[in-house]
Amino acid sequence: MTADVRKETLGFQTEAKQLLHLMIHSLYSNKEIFLRELISNASDAIDKLRFAALADPSLLEGGAELQVQVDVAKSKKLHTITISDNGIGMNRDEVIENLGTIAKSGTAAFLENLTGDQKKDSQLIGQFGVGFYSAFIVADRVEVHTRKAGEAADQGVLWESHGEAEFSIEAKPKETRGTSITLFLKKDCQDFADDWRVRSVIKKYSDHISVPVMMAKPPAPKDDDAEKPEKDAPLEYEAINAATALWTRGRTEVSDEEYKEFYKHVSHDFQDPLTWSHNKVEGKLEYTSLLYLPAKAPFDLWNREMTRGLKLYVQRTFIMDEAEQFLPMYLRFVKGVVDSNDLSLNVSREILQQDPAVESMRSALTKRVLDMLAKLAKSKGDDYAIFWKEFGQVLKEGPAEDFANKEKIAKLLRFSTTHTDVATQDQSLEDYVSRMQEKQDKIYYVVAENFNTAKHSPHLEVFRKKGIEVLLLSDRVDDWLMNHLQEFDGKRFQDVARGALDLAAESEEEKAEQEKLSKESEALVERLGKVLEAQVAEVRATSRLTDSAACLVVGDHDMGAQMRRIMEAAGQPVPESKPILEINPAHPLVRMLDEEADEDRFADLGSILFDQANLVEGGQLDDPAAYVARMNRLLLQMSKA
Ligand code: ADP
Repeated sequence: MTADVRKETLGFQTEAKQLLHLMIHSLYSNKEIFLRELISNASDAIDKLRFAALADPSLLEGGAELQVQVDVAKSKKLHTITISDNGIGMNRDEVIENLGTIAKSGTAAFLENLTGDQKKDSQLIGQFGVGFYSAFIVADRVEVHTRKAGEAADQGVLWESHGEAEFSIEAKPKETRGTSITLFLKKDCQDFADDWRVRSVIKKYSDHISVPVMMAKPPAPKDDDAEKPEKDAPLEYEAINAATALWTRGRTEVSDEEYKEFYKHVSHDFQDPLTWSHNKVEGKLEYTSLLYLPAKAPFDLWNREMTRGLKLYVQRTFIMDEAEQFLPMYLRFVKGVVDSNDLSLNVSREILQQDPAVESMRSALTKRVLDMLAKLAKSKGDDYAIFWKEFGQVLKEGPAEDFANKEKIAKLLRFSTTHTDVATQDQSLEDYVSRMQEKQDKIYYVVAENFNTAKHSPHLEVFRKKGIEVLLLSDRVDDWLMNHLQEFDGKRFQDVARGALDLAAESEEEKAEQEKLSKESEALVERLGKVLEAQVAEVRATSRLTDSAACLVVGDHDMGAQMRRIMEAAGQPVPESKPILEINPAHPLVRMLDEEADEDRFADLGSILFDQANLVEGGQLDDPAAYVARMNRLLLQMSKA
């Protein structure tokens, strides 16, 4: 194959252009992170080469000593910094693909959220991950000279851009494999061509990188007695980082700062993590894990193809990114590293899926994460609140996915309840249970479309009157969650809008009252049942309402209203089922209905009662026009009367 020698100028993909712009304008107060990002990429490229060389050792030709090299140069006109690696390198197509486009799905939608407000946008960019484009924070021109491992010197490629709309690409032979990135520094960023400045930044951000980062030794101070160094003597390089994989060190040897920097390297996140857990396991299986809890959800948390999983190493050798087999889906926000001594170096994704060792590591790592969360909840409530806000809805998927850990997960859940009556989800099930009334044997909850609908649900009236606490649920996953939770601490969960009202705390007196009510309403219930025959399964009198006239109740085994709406919205078939209409015989409207002799007016009023019960739940009317017409007929009759 002959190299493509044309020099081509190509435009950045729209998303890439937007991201570049964002990067340059929102991160300049944090300029120095570009060095961390480029060294991180270089170290990844070396990891990838090391892995590829397991299958094809010839890829290491020309030097098996893998390292990153940083050079600075100053002239009158130009100040540059160059970051070179002898890693995997890129061919022409890969350069265009990797440096000219952004492949993450959902990027366009993410970029639409940008506000132009630098502070806010720099937070957003943290959720996205920084990366190669950060070079343009400090440089007004960037050259990338690269050659893929295993290819001939004449296959080198030179990529160049000013970080605006376009980049150029041309063939340029390269003697060594790997990538060399040269930044032509902006006027106000020339300190990054200063040896000591660069050394301190690398120390700060990249000490934990497992490959050596080399810089030329500074010239020895002038000393007339010393032998004069030969002119043009080759520079001597020295490693300026510790260059041991951080997770192989003991917990007490690693500072918090180092843990935090390492997190940024593995996660491409820009903020500090909330917490981490570092463990070495010995015994039947031997592995080390370092698991982090991010402080901010990534932009694609809800995207099915989101990047998730841990970085997998086998005996210190990098094997793959995003090894999702080591944690369940509902812990997909966890970042980190797992390094196994037992797996084989040529392990593949397919093998991971079947390996029993992986299965037991997965269950141990899952427990670790749940314990880490429990510990955070106990010792740092404010941080746990941050976690819950960002990832609580994901954790709620847990009880359905991970039956074995249901009880552990349940303890980590946080809810809004009638006890606080605010939207913030900060009450645990243990809190609820500790406040239960003496005879209460169930944990009550209501599910609605949003918090306000839940809070004002007519189903809560009797509970509020009796001072019985109810969980207020309004997240999309809540119905699903409750279906799988079923019980906590030996107490069953009860949807207050489902089935007959059964308050164990009811006194005999109250029960007698209820029976009397039903007796007295028999005729009305039957009459109303006929009018609403097509819409409801049953009409009955209730004592659960104090202020409202009516409400809808779901049959014990029918699908809840929220689940029904979600399924319908997703175009899924929903089984036929009709709600039960419960009426409050003490309500003036219901009494008026009972006294209504005109059958047409009775039918209008009855239908309105039903439609309103539906509306209060946040439901949609089957025939809103008919509802309005009925309402208007009644209003007109009122004005005539
Ligand atoms: P990310 O690292 O998050 O994927 P970047 O924008 O930093 O995003 O890099 C884009 C891609 O370019 C990388 O995924 C990698 O494939 C490639 N790349 C970047 N730097 C190098 C390098 N030094 N050597 C080889 N490939 C690189």
